[in-house]
Amino acid sequence: MTPPSMSAAPDFDYCIVGGGLQGCLLAHALAWHRPEATVLLVERAAELCGNHTWSFHETDVAEGARSWFDPLVSCRWPGYRVRFPGLTRRVSLPYATITSDRLREATLSLAGGVEGTARPGRLVIRTGETCEILSPTAVRVGGTADISCREVLDCRGRTAQTASPGGAGYQTFIGHEYETAGRWPAAEPTVMDVRADQAAGFEFLYELPLGPDRVLLEYTRFHEEPACDESRADDLIATRLAEAGAPSAKLIRTETGCLPMPYAAAASRAGSSLAGGYAGGWYHAATGYSMPLAVRFAELVARARPDQVAAAIAGAAAEDRLRRGFARFLNRLLFCLVRPTDRWKIFQRFYRVLPEERIARFYAHRFTFTDAARIVIGWPPSGLAPIRFARSFVSLPGPVAT
Ligand SMILES: Cc1cc2nc3c(=O)[nH]c(=O)nc-3n(C[C@H](O)[C@H](O)[C@H](O)COP(=O)(O)OP(=O)(O)OC[C@H]3O[C@@H](n4cnc5c(N)ncnc54)[C@H](O)[C@@H]3O)c2cc1C
Repeated sequence: MTPPSMSAAPDFDYCIVGGGLQGCLLAHALAWHRPEATVLLVERAAELCGNHTWSFHETDVAEGARSWFDPLVSCRWPGYRVRFPGLTRRVSLPYATITSDRLREATLSLAGGVEGTARPGRLVIRTGETCEILSPTAVRVGGTADISCREVLDCRGRTAQTASPGGAGYQTFIGHEYETAGRWPAAEPTVMDVRADQAAGFEFLYELPLGPDRVLLEYTRFHEEPACDESRADDLIATRLAEAGAPSAKLIRTETGCLPMPYAAAASRAGSSLAGGYAGGWYHAATGYSMPLAVRFAELVARARPDQVAAAIAGAAAEDRLRRGFARFLNRLLFCLVRPTDRWKIFQRFYRVLPEERIARFYAHRFTFTDAARIVIGWPPSGLAPIRFARSFVSLPGPVAT
């Protein structure tokens, strides 16, 4: 089968391949900024958006994106807590979450014409079909149908091509959402509860009160291997439920996942289509949060004139190059130079010494040179192996043994 002829008018203006976080945000940004554009969104799974709870700092999102982004937000809190041995801090930065259910519903309504957001015929969604990218302006859907467009946007998430050639550490998650009989005792999230002993490496509980009687408790572990310890997760979650007076809360949903934290950039794919989200490196390599850069990518694509999208993306990626490199450097430091049992100290220090504006800029991937210096200078020497640290500037060391 040959790619469709480009002499005829293309079938769509934009073709988004992958209906996860990036693909759906992009559909919303295009609907807002380019209401005249025709968009095809193809997702290989039966449903859009998977099964996630995507949190972020409100300061991650630029003012210009608020009009289309705000209606997607499921929950908001004025601040959050972190708890470490020797430190409990409330951070007064507004925090928020978008759930898969909310984003799926809002994206389907964009296509289907519900509640005044209708653009019938402008956004076409196809799920349950794998999409192959034939060229920067053509895709093949479901193995048979070739479709032309002005711009293919690769939002396929993690693929073999996104693997870091220099290796990676991993953030693994097991999250359980509960309905409780009474009111959950905390009204704000705790994004790191590091009270458990750290013998198995850096691990913590993440707590998100999604309503007065609903809570997501997520066990997170930073490790050299992409494996998660389910019995450890069950233990820590059960301990927190008991402490909160809700030992028999009803489990209503589970989400699991593993996110590589790369040490080096993925190989570039010259000549391929434009890539956003995880596929294009538009995520925060050191925190694992995708939202700040996924929103930025969506805004860039949707605001650029169609013939200038590639230039806008390339320009923004170049402007962010040093920050991306620094985020990967932090991963190398954490996984290759700090003993697993000492890793929590790095995060404790981050929250102990940084003022809120620096924390906000770090998470938003807008940190300055001074912010970066403040983050690494003075890392606890007890956790850092100085000779390995010096050598790491020359070559990538292997992980530090426990
Ligand atoms: C458990 C967990 C918790 C997380 N929590 C947060 C958080 O709180 N905040 C945050 O910002 N980030 C979080 N992240 C990170 C975030 O989920 C991902 O980085 C983000 O989903 C990446 O977005 P994406 O659109 O690039 O990829 P995805 O969301 O993975 O979407 C890619 C989509 O493309 C589809 N696809 C792939 N190939 C094809 C194909 N050939 N044809 C059609 N469709 C295709 C896939 O089925 C998938 O739906 C978390 C990750 C995990 C694992």
